[in-house]
Amino acid sequence: MTGDHLLVLDAGTTSTRAMLFAGDGTVAATASRALSQFYPKPGWVEHDAQQIWLETLACAREVTSKIGGAANIAAIGIANQRETVVAWNRDTGEPLSRAIVWQDRRTARMCQSLRDDGHETMVQQRTGLLLDPYFSATKVRWLLDNDDAVAAAAKAGTLAFGTVESWLTFRLSKGVHLSDASNASRTLLLPLDSAAPDPELCALFGVPEQALPRICDNAGALAEADAEWLGRTIPITGMAGDQQAATIGQACLAPGEVKATYGTGAFVLANMGDTIPRSSHRLLGTVLMQLGGRRTYALEGSVFVAGSLIQWLRDELGLIKTAAETEELARSVESSGEVTIVPALAGLGAPHWKAEARGVIAGLSFSSGRAQIARAALESMAHQTWDLATAFAADGARWANLRIDGGMSANDWMAQDLADMLDLPVERPEFVETTALGAAMLAALGCGWFPDLAEAAKAMRGNAACFTPQLDQGQRAERLARWRKALAAA
Ligand code: ADP
Repeated sequence: MTGDHLLVLDAGTTSTRAMLFAGDGTVAATASRALSQFYPKPGWVEHDAQQIWLETLACAREVTSKIGGAANIAAIGIANQRETVVAWNRDTGEPLSRAIVWQDRRTARMCQSLRDDGHETMVQQRTGLLLDPYFSATKVRWLLDNDDAVAAAAKAGTLAFGTVESWLTFRLSKGVHLSDASNASRTLLLPLDSAAPDPELCALFGVPEQALPRICDNAGALAEADAEWLGRTIPITGMAGDQQAATIGQACLAPGEVKATYGTGAFVLANMGDTIPRSSHRLLGTVLMQLGGRRTYALEGSVFVAGSLIQWLRDELGLIKTAAETEELARSVESSGEVTIVPALAGLGAPHWKAEARGVIAGLSFSSGRAQIARAALESMAHQTWDLATAFAADGARWANLRIDGGMSANDWMAQDLADMLDLPVERPEFVETTALGAAMLAALGCGWFPDLAEAAKAMRGNAACFTPQLDQGQRAERLARWRKALAAA
C-alpha cells in the first residue's frame, strides 16, 4: 500500500468536507462545501443525495490535488451524518428521491401508532433505540409508501437503501452495498447483538430486506474507491457515524470513558465495552464500533439545544454580536444573579424526552442584564449535562472525567463551569475536529498502520487542556436546586 496520507470524507448535515491526515494526526489539506437544505413542509428536512456525492467528490479531488495526487493517499476513511436515508437504483447508482434527513419529523404519527400498538419495549430491547422519527426505519417506510419511483424500484428489485456512508461507498466503489455497524445501529433494523438486520423488525416497519446493505466492520478492507474518481484505486478502510467517530477521535476506547460534543445540540456518548447497554432512563444503546466482528457498545444521550441557544441570544434577542462574546460577559459578573435558563426551545431531549416542553428564563429581577442572561445561558449547558451524567450513572455508566469538543467547547468559561458543576476533570483536545480524526484513526487501523486504536490514538492525537473542578459543594447544590425548579416550570 503506497501513500503517506489518509483521506477523510466527513459528510455532515450542513456541509460536506474532505481532510488529509498524516500518520501523526496533522492535517495537510482541507476542503468544504455547503449542502442545500430543503424544507418542503413544516417539520420536513431533505437533502439532494446526488449533491452529497458530487460535493464530497469535489472536496476529495480538491485536497488530493493539493498534495500532488492520489499516489500520496494510502486509504480513505468516512464519517457521516447518521440516520439520514438515501434510496437509489442499484443498477444505475442514481438516487430515486431526495434523502430524508435525521431531523425530519414527518413520521411522528407512524411512530406514535407503533407505540400505541405496544411495540416500543420490544424495539428498545432489541435495538437500544426508541420509536422516534429521528431513526431511519420509518423514513424508509415513508419513501416506500409515498414515492412512486421508490415503490417501482422495490417492485422491480432494483431498490437500494442506505445511510450516507453506504451511499458514498456505493458510488465510490461503483456498486459495493454495505453499511458499517455503527451507522446500521441507528436504523431500528439492526439488533445490538445481531450481525444482520432482524427479519421481524424489517416486517414490523415494512422494509424489504433485499434492499438493505450488508453490515460490515468499522475498519478493514471494506471496499475500494474506483480509479475514475481520484486517478487511482484507493482502499476504503474505515468508516463510522459522526458521533461514534468523534468518540473514537476522543480516544474513549475503554469502558466508562465519555465524550460530549457541544455544537448546535450536544451529544454525549460513553464507551460501555462489550456489554450491551440497557437503559432504564431513556438513554440510547448503540454500537460504538465493530472490529473483527466484535462489537463495542456505547450509551448515548442527546440534548437538543446547546450552541443554538447562543445563536438565539444573538439572532433573536440581539443580546450579543458573536457567540464568543458570552465568555467575556459571563466573566464580567460574579454570578447570574438568580437567572436560570431552561433551553427547551425545541422540547427537551435526553433524559427528559418532553417534546412539548418550552423554554424558561426564571429568576429575573431589575439587576438582571445581558451579562446575567449570557452567563445563565452558558450555565444551562452544565445543568443539562448534569442531568445526563445522573442518568448515565443510574444506567451503570458513572463518569470519571469528560472529554469535550464541538464549536461551543472553545468557550473556556463554559468548560470550567462544566468541571465545576459535574465535579469532574474536563479535557479539551487542542485539535477539536474529533469526528474527522476518529475516521482517520479507523482508516489508519484498517490499512495496517497501527495494530489497534490505542496505538493510533497515541500517534495521532495531540495534547489536551484540562479544567479541574473548583466550586464548593454548597454553591453547586444551590445552582442545581434553582435548575430543578426552573425545569419543573418548563
Ligand atoms: P455544528 O457542528 O452543530 O454545526 P459547531 O460544532 O460548529 O456546530 O458549533 C457551533 C455552535 O457553537 C453555534 O451554535 C455557536 O453558537 C456555538 N459557539 C461557537 N463558539 C462559541 C463560544 N465561544 N461560546 C459559546 N458558544 C459558541
